[in-house]
Amino acid sequence: MAETVTCAHCGMVVDEPPMTWISSVERGRTLYYCDTCARDHLRAIEARLDSSWW
Ligand SMILES: [Zn+2]
Repeated sequence: MAETVTCAHCGMVVDEPPMTWISSVERGRTLYYCDTCARDHLRAIEARLDSSWW
């Protein structure tokens, strides 16, 4: 059973989240970010800023 995951920032879609992707719970939803976006925005994510702030 493949569960597609979409990067909440750039919209990249994968069949399943690679280990390099990170998840972030925002407003009760679990969002995923690809490795590129995670690296670019890791600081913001760790600060628990909402993705709309980007
Ligand atoms: Zn991305």
